[in-house]
Amino acid sequence: MSESISPFHDTDVLIVGAGIIGLAHAAEAVARGLSVRIIDRDARAVGASIRNFGHCCVTAQSGELLELATVAREGWLRHSKLAGFSSLASGGLAVARNSQEVAVLEELCASRGADQVQLITAAAAHDQLGGLGDAAIMAGALLRDDIRVDPREAVAKLANWLARSPQVTFSWQTSYFGTDDDGAQRSTVRTSRGSFRASRVIVCVGHDLDYVHPELAESFAVNRCALQMALVRPPASLRITPAVLTGTSMLRYPAFAETAAAAELKQELAAKSPELLAIDANLMLTQRPDGTLIIGDSHHTESTVDPFLSEDTQDTLLRAAAQLLGTGDLQVLQRWQGVYASSPHQNFLIKDVQANVSAVSVTSGIGMTISFGLARKTFDQLENAPVLSKIS
Ligand SMILES: Cc1cc2nc3c(=O)[nH]c(=O)nc-3n(C[C@H](O)[C@H](O)[C@H](O)COP(=O)(O)OP(=O)(O)OC[C@H]3O[C@@H](n4cnc5c(N)ncnc54)[C@H](O)[C@@H]3O)c2cc1C
Repeated sequence: MSESISPFHDTDVLIVGAGIIGLAHAAEAVARGLSVRIIDRDARAVGASIRNFGHCCVTAQSGELLELATVAREGWLRHSKLAGFSSLASGGLAVARNSQEVAVLEELCASRGADQVQLITAAAAHDQLGGLGDAAIMAGALLRDDIRVDPREAVAKLANWLARSPQVTFSWQTSYFGTDDDGAQRSTVRTSRGSFRASRVIVCVGHDLDYVHPELAESFAVNRCALQMALVRPPASLRITPAVLTGTSMLRYPAFAETAAAAELKQELAAKSPELLAIDANLMLTQRPDGTLIIGDSHHTESTVDPFLSEDTQDTLLRAAAQLLGTGDLQVLQRWQGVYASSPHQNFLIKDVQANVSAVSVTSGIGMTISFGLARKTFDQLENAPVLSKIS
């Protein structure tokens, strides 16, 4: 294959990775009038961005993450209209099945206000669960700002919508090898299909950051977090509009975890549900437009992920989900493993790795939640740095 570079290939921005983080950055670049090439080693996105719950978990974030999630929420709603994928601004539902969980929800309601975190009765929580639900449910909270998309539909349609823009070119099945700085405010990007030039390269390869920029991944101890998931057949005509969160979610998401009551909740779950803590579960579910339920998840962090799924882990999650729904055994339609980047030091990285090259990775499992907000932050930083010059 010729290594010659056609000027035709020059773009203002070249984005590596067509998961939600790469696509959100592409959408932001287009909105700023820039031309973009997006390259991905696969023929379509099949990474973390299509393997998740499709839950934009806005309300349970805090600090800067809440700010990014709030911007991302608007981005999801806007792009859902533009790209023609469904989105549900129907909020989240956190169910409380012990007094500690009730206390966490009450504390969050007191600090955020009842318009953002609305406490509801057990009966109202059962209504939200389509009339089903664990008999142990004591109360619940509606999380106003959470939204949901179907990840498989949303990511594919967002890519298709971007591909229709005259400012955007996709190069699928094209692997990124690295970038050479060739001066003159542009860089040459080496790929499995020849070279491309761009004035700014943004590397959004998720958990594969260590493959392309190992020194950056090492400096923030970025590892792979593997999660087991399942798609199950819903109990007859069940409709659940919000994303459903449970006590284990309250240990994970910052706005819950920062409450004083969360420490007692951890002790309670350690005593009563040790099997969930042993797999570092975040017991959650969301319903897809066809009615099927996405059930998850477990967490296991290491540098190279073991390819073998544990049936014990799957059983634990499915039993817990059946209990949450107050149903008998759930019929599994699909099982899969998802992987995301995880760092003990940072929730996300936006880092310059060489001249004209930034790496962006969400290292805390909330890439759907903050996607469009993070993209805006990246471009704001680039524009303030004056490193982003227009080619075309
Ligand atoms: C099971 C699971 C559940 C989750 N649930 C939620 C949730 O409900 N809400 C939420 O906010 N977040 C959730 N997350 C986290 C979220 O999915 C991720 O943070 C987000 O999808 C990361 O997006 P990404 O674009 O960085 O990575 P990815 O979607 O993995 O995309 C990276 C892309 O880079 C490409 N690539 C990699 N290397 C190269 C290379 N050398 N050359 C070319 N292309 C390359 C890959 O092919 C891939 O398409 C979940 C994650 C998992 C795994």
